[in-house]
Amino acid sequence: MSIFSHPAYDKHEQVAFYQDAKSGLKAIIAVHNTNLGPSLGGCRMWPYADDGEALNDVLRLSRGMTYKSAMAGLKLGGGKSVIIGDPRKEKSPELLRAMGDFINTLGGRYITAEDSGTSVEDMHVIGERTKFVSGVIEGSEHGGDPSPSTAYGVFVGLKAAAEHRWGKTDLSGLKVSLQGVGNVGFRLAKLLKEAGAELFVTDIFQDNIDRAVNELGATAVGADEIFDLDVDLFAPCAMGAILNDDTIARLKVGAIAGAANNQLAEERHAAVLREKGILYAPDYVINAGGIIDVYYQQQGDYKPAQVKEHIDTIGSTMQEVFQRADETGETTAHVADRVAEERFGHEDTLKNDTAAA
Ligand code: NAD
Repeated sequence: MSIFSHPAYDKHEQVAFYQDAKSGLKAIIAVHNTNLGPSLGGCRMWPYADDGEALNDVLRLSRGMTYKSAMAGLKLGGGKSVIIGDPRKEKSPELLRAMGDFINTLGGRYITAEDSGTSVEDMHVIGERTKFVSGVIEGSEHGGDPSPSTAYGVFVGLKAAAEHRWGKTDLSGLKVSLQGVGNVGFRLAKLLKEAGAELFVTDIFQDNIDRAVNELGATAVGADEIFDLDVDLFAPCAMGAILNDDTIARLKVGAIAGAANNQLAEERHAAVLREKGILYAPDYVINAGGIIDVYYQQQGDYKPAQVKEHIDTIGSTMQEVFQRADETGETTAHVADRVAEERFGHEDTLKNDTAAA
């Protein structure tokens, strides 16, 4: 398994491997870039098929965090950690404490938070061994859960997309399809309903669909049917790689704005969307509400109004991305990458500047 020549390596500052035989912990921490501040990103626990799959995931995800935090205007770098194992069978307090010890060895260059396969409760256990853990502040509005802030940020970004695409600040009557009405998707659907939008939802769990139908008056559609609907805007809130050759060819929407990470199956799909006249809200820009929330939790001085004010900036950032894409003819995804790179100093520009000063 190659490390420095790995396709996803992309100038990572540090990649650390750790094993604790007693608890069975096998984990990797990847620190992509700390130009703007300590790296912060979730701790994912997943039954990876092999070490290579885990390494690929952690490298991709930590790089993504650098871009997300830079775009959200946070003094944070990008990092992520993965624990190799099945969270339903192999997670134990001993294993989580050992993970805390591992995080501590990096001396604050990496701060962890919950992610797929880990919970707020798990962060409390990790926090017994390290202070470099977020998402556990009792004073935060939702007990450390970033999902409500993510949903609010997506709502703000979606409104910016609707305004740019249709010149409409009022969402009433806008037809929106949502793929996935889980933690983020359901809360987003609720905000959209309150704003007067008409909702079409799908999920793989019937109880999640029922909740959206019964509580929000949404129309339920099939898991595959969601791509063929005659609606205005599509909000992917389930899984990644959902915008691919097959789905884009079927979509009839004018804009895409949703919470899911890594929505584009491949980079080139941003151009396919543009050619089709579909406005794409880059995923890591629109779904940054959660990391903004976690940042303020980590600061230890959580003021809901301040957090909301910061999340509201997702709207203006999104408008800036849309406008630059219109002016330059680039895709919105490419513009977002470029703006983020300017902010965190890609190619080590910040470090070189400092060295030259
Ligand atoms: P979740 O697991 O609570 O919700 C996802 C929902 O999607 C579930 O209800 C699931 O049943 C459904 N789903 C899965 N596959 C589906 C399919 N093929 N078709 C339809 N529905 C499907 O997760 P979440 O926390 O709501 O996160 C949703 C997305 O947003 C994920 O991609 C996540 O990475 C991203 N995200 C979440 C946060 C956060 O704060 N939770 C922050 C940033 C990004």
